[in-house]
Amino acid sequence: MFVCSSLIILALSSVFLFMILLSKSVLLTLVGVMILMIDLGSFGATATLNPGIPDRNLQKYSPEYVESLSKSNSLGYCSRCKIIRRPGSDTQHCADCDVCVEGYDHHCPWTGKCIGKGNSRYFYTFLASTFILLFFMMGATLLTVP
Ligand SMILES: [Zn+2]
Ligand SMILES: [Zn+2]
Repeated sequence: MFVCSSLIILALSSVFLFMILLSKSVLLTLVGVMILMIDLGSFGATATLNPGIPDRNLQKYSPEYVESLSKSNSLGYCSRCKIIRRPGSDTQHCADCDVCVEGYDHHCPWTGKCIGKGNSRYFYTFLASTFILLFFMMGATLLTVP
């Protein structure tokens, strides 16, 4: 899925950039390539960085404490990951990835990754640059196509 979506972005953008290039506007082409780089870079970072998967931390706690937490069915313990969630870290278990993620926002099907505290800023950079790229392409096409 990750390869698929990056190929779509790359292919679509190349077609547009090629059209702009044909119109011999070097400046527009350079700006387009720059936005595309930021777009693909932040997309890559979102998809490859650790979204915030916590360490297996049960050794730090006494077995009795872990036992009581798992029995009390509290939100502080994940029985799938066998970890104790840090209080206030807004940790949720992702069903798609089958891991807990700190600062969990959502599971992103385009990157095949969770968006959590580790990669959310790259995710928002990716979103913003995709929209900027889109509007830039539209504007540049209108400007250059006779
Ligand atoms: Zn979990
Ligand atoms: Zn996920």
